[in-house]
Amino acid sequence: MTDTRHRDRPPLDRPSLTVDLDALARNYARLKDAAGAAETGAVVKADGYGLGLEPVTARLAREGCRSFFVANVEEGARVRAIDNDASVYVFNGLMPGDEHRCLTLALSPVLNEPAQLDRWLPVNRERTDARAAALFVDTGMNRLGFSPAQAALLLERTDLEGDEVDLFISHFACASTPEHSMNLEQIADFKEAVAALRARFPNARASMANSAGVFLGPTACFDLTRPGVALYGGCPHEDRAIVMEAVATLEAPILQVRDLSPGERVGYGADHVVDRPTRAATVALGYADGFLRAAGGRGYGVLHGRRAPIMGRVSMDLMTLDVTAAGAAARPGALVELLGPNALLDDQAEAAGTANYEFLTRLGPRCERSYREAET
Ligand SMILES: *Cc1c(COP(=O)(O)O)cnc(C)c1O
Repeated sequence: MTDTRHRDRPPLDRPSLTVDLDALARNYARLKDAAGAAETGAVVKADGYGLGLEPVTARLAREGCRSFFVANVEEGARVRAIDNDASVYVFNGLMPGDEHRCLTLALSPVLNEPAQLDRWLPVNRERTDARAAALFVDTGMNRLGFSPAQAALLLERTDLEGDEVDLFISHFACASTPEHSMNLEQIADFKEAVAALRARFPNARASMANSAGVFLGPTACFDLTRPGVALYGGCPHEDRAIVMEAVATLEAPILQVRDLSPGERVGYGADHVVDRPTRAATVALGYADGFLRAAGGRGYGVLHGRRAPIMGRVSMDLMTLDVTAAGAAARPGALVELLGPNALLDDQAEAAGTANYEFLTRLGPRCERSYREAET
């Protein structure tokens, strides 16, 4: 990652991705509000959903976030390098041989099956820097975690210390559809599992809500929430009733402008045919930058406050926009917004036939990242 805080102008031959850390902080505050008495953690896996794990983690820590969640140990090490004290939970579990590395980095593994617990306990007990782990209880997603039967067997064990697990975790399958019946079923099943498991681990807290879960209401939030996508500006629910503030602004410069007459064609496959006099701008952004090719013919840019639809296919390094509405603002060097407060993440994801998650995490290293925040 290039630190371009002091760059005096955006690059004019390639895309730039500006991350508004103040907007991130406001989204965090909103998620905190919605979570009531529960603590609000943050999921910063996948390089902070593509926006940069380190700057995102540092800002959230400054906003008071004390619990971070990552997918793997490597990401955990990156969080630990930024924050010495916060709890860092590793979702992917504890693979053989990672026990000492987790402890040295003071990471809490999320134990996903009995074998992981059995491998963790002896190593943890012999170290002076022993720490509590989290326990994932599956409530119907069948992806990771102890099955309900495996969790129930823990109640029969006499070899467990009460402080060896400090967090029970489960995960919603359908929280982005608030009215889905599975949400209430999962909440009830998790509640029951937590109540039983507290006989073994009396002080462990419980966590179930991702971004979408937070907005299902207080019963979904338990003790600690785990929002990801909403922090980064994604609408958590499919109906888009809850709109978060845009955090990522993707801009790309116009390289060339040309005027087309009705009947002229644009791009690979020549499958876009213009039907009226059209000003076309070729922009330095393509699928190699992570702007999904599937958004061709459906997504849009915004130039000078005007929508500029993508004409035809997205190329590897380029796309062509209809900038007729932008008039004289369409000239080489002008920056087109392809993601941001005007070109909405959820629109672009929908245009590409995918989820806001995939759209964000695909943005590649060729988009030069920079970070904006008020001097404090
Ligand atoms: C990624 C992830 C989250 C965050 O989900 P969002 O929908 O991005 O808020 C929470 N919990 C688990 C287990 C995850 O894998």
